[in-house]
Parts: sequence; C-alpha cells; structure tokens
Amino acid sequence: YNTSMILITHDLGVVAETSDYVAVVYAGKIVEYGDKKSVFLNPSHPYTKGLFASLPSMNTGEKRLKPIPGTLPDPTDLPQGCAFAPRCERATDACRKGTVPMIEVEPGHTCCCCNLKQEE
Ligand code: SF4
Repeated sequence: YNTSMILITHDLGVVAETSDYVAVVYAGKIVEYGDKKSVFLNPSHPYTKGLFASLPSMNTGEKRLKPIPGTLPDPTDLPQGCAFAPRCERATDACRKGTVPMIEVEPGHTCCCCNLKQEE
C-alpha cells in the first residue's frame, strides 16, 4: 500500500519479524540507527549490546539473564554528556562531558558513542 509504519517496542523478536530499519532510543535520543540486518549482526552502542545480551537463549545454557545494570535516568534531569554513562562499563570522562558524536559504523548504520574504537 506504499505505507510506512513506526513500531515502538522493547521486543527485539518483533523488530526482527516486522522492521526494515531500526532506531535504538535511550533516554529519548536515538543512539543507534541502521537497517535491521546491520544493527542485528553488528550492534555497536553499549546499550544496544546490552539489550541483545539480556535476551534469553535456548542455546547458551546460561541459567540467568544478563540485565543492564542500573536504571534509566530521570528524563527531567538527564546527566551531562552521554545519558547512558552511569550504566556503561566503557564510560570515560569524555563521555560525561560535552556532546557525544554520531559516528558511521558502516554505510547507513550510525552510532552515538565516544568509545566505538574501544568497543570493537
Ligand atoms: S559515549 Fe561513553 S558512556 Fe556513552 S555509550 Fe559510549 S562508551 Fe558508554
């Protein structure tokens, strides 16, 4: 029908089944964006990686889920710099100051993170 649809969900299974493009949002900001295959095969932002790591798996034999530590920040009082920094094990002083750049991971796939090189 030449129609687009925006689906907002935490269910990555639904995203996998229904979406062409994925925008991962944290604290009201897009932190990673790309086509579904690129984001699912190469999740780059620590929050995106945490979402995938917290999924149950029938194949790994792990008995416990691996949640992302901490809680969402107060949207009326976001931390300076990267809003994910209080929960991110890769956070540095650079993350907590100024603007975090949006970096192209691969063509059409972008990620908002100061430490992408460290992540790889
Ligand atoms: S900018 Fe820093 S705190 Fe934010 S996700 Fe990247 S590494 Fe973590």
